[in-house]
Amino acid sequence: MNRQDRFKGCLFGGALGDALGYAVEFMRLPQIKSVFGPGGITGPVIDKASNKALISDDTQMALFTADGLLWAAVGQDGGEVRFAADGVYPSYLRWYYTQSGNIKDRRLLEKQPHEKKNAVFPAGRSIMEYRELFESRAPGNTCLASLRSGKMGTMEYPVNSSKGCGGVMRAAPAGLLFHRDPAAAFRVGAETAAVTHGHPSGYLPAGVLAAVVAELVNGKTVHESAQAAMRILETYASHEETLSALRRAVELARGGAAPQDAVRELGEGWVGEEALAVALYCALKEADVKQAFIAAVNHDGDSDSTGAVCGNILGAAYGFGALPEDWAANIELYELLADISGRLFALAQYRGNKSI
Ligand SMILES: [Mg+2]
Repeated sequence: MNRQDRFKGCLFGGALGDALGYAVEFMRLPQIKSVFGPGGITGPVIDKASNKALISDDTQMALFTADGLLWAAVGQDGGEVRFAADGVYPSYLRWYYTQSGNIKDRRLLEKQPHEKKNAVFPAGRSIMEYRELFESRAPGNTCLASLRSGKMGTMEYPVNSSKGCGGVMRAAPAGLLFHRDPAAAFRVGAETAAVTHGHPSGYLPAGVLAAVVAELVNGKTVHESAQAAMRILETYASHEETLSALRRAVELARGGAAPQDAVRELGEGWVGEEALAVALYCALKEADVKQAFIAAVNHDGDSDSTGAVCGNILGAAYGFGALPEDWAANIELYELLADISGRLFALAQYRGNKSI
């Protein structure tokens, strides 16, 4: 399988898991079963008005992460990216604008260098031209409040003490773009999460996800990628909570517990380390891609985020071609997902082996 297929798979996988889980995000498992049958939700719900499976804030923000990384890199003429979050922060301010109508600097809404024809990309539509991104799909309060504050959080200067899963759910694009250097992918993933989430268990899981995605793009298995990412995690301060959640996920995936019991033990996924642990467990445990998606969303907790993160992992591991074809065909924002994954791939190729 080629790398381009993994890039596309990672973004589409995230969107498919998000859409599957969004339909049951605020339901507990008994309610999911009462609505969808004893097997729970087993396929995307199609919105009657648009005839699409609707994505939520997780995918919207992952797309803004990707666009912000392109912005950072191309804004510097494809050269060194010292601090990729500097491009991601204005991109998140644009996301905040889509949800609130508020933006302090209207110049951010104009076409930016990465949206114009340049050395890396042909001319294309700006992300701000996709009206679906302006739909309100249960956006996270921490993301809204921190972006409203006008302050950009960093790991050194946290903007709050939130460990919500809003940091990890959108971090996968960092792993794609910086796949040649998984430690750099980790750092960029964590930095982009720290823009809005100041607790280590809010931003470190985002670093882990980015490093896992990077290792998968480089051809490692899910298990190998998780182990490699955990070794990077251990080099960061205050990693213990995230590391112990991941170790438990790996142990449970090796053991014989039923998936629903294992997921219940790992937590509901409203916070970063739990969302990552549930997603990783499902990707490790289930050999079948569809079953992994289903396990990742049928539980009491934050189904769209656990589904999105699991889908990022599955897509990077097995490629776009391994995702359920009928699910992908009906996903909202198909064109933008394909375009952004293609642009990330083109930029990663262009950057070659330049270190960041
Ligand atoms: Mg959501």
